[in-house]
Amino acid sequence: MPQKMLKFVDVPRGMPEKRAAEARRGDFDEIYREYAAAKAEEQSSRCSQCGVPYCQTHCPLHNNIPDWLKLTAEGRLEEAYAVSQATNTFPEICGRICPQDRLCEGNCVIEQSGHGTVTIGAVEKYITDTAWEEGWVKPAAPRVERPESVGIIGAGPGGLAAADMLRRRGFQVTVYDRYDRAGGLMIYGIPGFKLEKDVVMRRNKLLEDGGVTFELGKDIGVDIAFQELREKHDAILIATGVYKSRDLGGPGAGLPGILKALDYLTASNKTGFGDTVAEFESGELNANGKKVVVIGGGDTAMDCVRTAIRQGASSVKCLYRRDRANMPGSQREVANAEEEGVEFVWLSAPKGFVGDDRANGVRVAKMRLGAPDVTGRQTPEEIEGADYTEPADIIIKALGFDPEDLPKLWDVEGLDVTRWGTIKTDHRTHETALDGVFAAGDIVRGASLVVWAIRDGREAADAIAAKLDARASVVAAE
Ligand code: SF4
Repeated sequence: MPQKMLKFVDVPRGMPEKRAAEARRGDFDEIYREYAAAKAEEQSSRCSQCGVPYCQTHCPLHNNIPDWLKLTAEGRLEEAYAVSQATNTFPEICGRICPQDRLCEGNCVIEQSGHGTVTIGAVEKYITDTAWEEGWVKPAAPRVERPESVGIIGAGPGGLAAADMLRRRGFQVTVYDRYDRAGGLMIYGIPGFKLEKDVVMRRNKLLEDGGVTFELGKDIGVDIAFQELREKHDAILIATGVYKSRDLGGPGAGLPGILKALDYLTASNKTGFGDTVAEFESGELNANGKKVVVIGGGDTAMDCVRTAIRQGASSVKCLYRRDRANMPGSQREVANAEEEGVEFVWLSAPKGFVGDDRANGVRVAKMRLGAPDVTGRQTPEEIEGADYTEPADIIIKALGFDPEDLPKLWDVEGLDVTRWGTIKTDHRTHETALDGVFAAGDIVRGASLVVWAIRDGREAADAIAAKLDARASVVAAE
């Protein structure tokens, strides 16, 4: 067979076709089209098959990227899918929403050498979407049914990854979530233009088809006591994520018209499902025809600004206290947002809100970047006397998330937490201070990426299985 790989010198980097910004503004469909087969093969063939693949080492799941690129280049897609899904529960989701520019693609050797990265994320998406179309994605069919049951609290990526791994081993798995649909932030946080909802719903159905039970709309500590779950299941995994929005103080902080990012995004996503959301209908959580100001520079802020554009906002501005080079969000997302009409107001920090009965503006302090702090990031400093008011009809706070106080909410003693409120676990086993209770994902590591939650969920599933296996062998020996 002629050499298929190392084509990066002759073949330029090519992403799948991106829909025109004007068309994107009018709907919540994903913005990238799918590769055609020939294009996916061609782009995969650019990989130089590095002996030390930095793409793989910088992937939290250590996905075997060079191998599935080679298989794709050779047209061996079913094998490519088998390799891809061996390390990742949701490859088509990671292909869509991972910030590849900060992970695999940002570290790709041919990106570093100036040839433009292999389009790893787009190929990963193509492989798994093809696998779905071809019927290669199969529900769990364990060879042996195990009597032990595991209760998983939280149907986000960490909880669902663990559910899949445990069910494939034959354990009886029930996933509890306070929302009415499974998926966590993948369903109600991330907008459809980055991750269409049927991509998540077909995964939920696959888990159900494989025997995972879902108890949705069940809030632990309200509808079911945590202790009741411990008595019901042989092991518990806490994978709730972090949902407490970071707040902003200052004058006018409590005025109506100042929204939490997650409330805003959830209302939009629910509406996308056809649900009736009273606060969306009333206009409270709907940007249509309004001047919108979003505060924050992370991925959630990017999701909010781009949602507001699609809802028909009259203007959308994003305030961030550092500059473009120092923002935490993906540069690719910033570029997409700018194309769609978002205006970024860099070096701008909120000092308070103006308005009488309702916020109608943000008081903004202008900043400059000063000396680097201990992490090496330049600290923003206020420029005296440069304040101004940014007019707004709605203001969305997207400043990140902290853990809720689970020991208090769930009335549980002995569940140790860190000073940040995240749950303390043994880093090797993911087990908490409570015997048989494990924790994984953002509730342990703090707000992070979906791909890290998947990794943590998979590792926790291994640890839970090992614990239940050990218990079973003790019982068998008695
Ligand atoms: Fe291929 Fe880039 Fe990974 Fe090297 S770093 S194996 S070129 S994708």
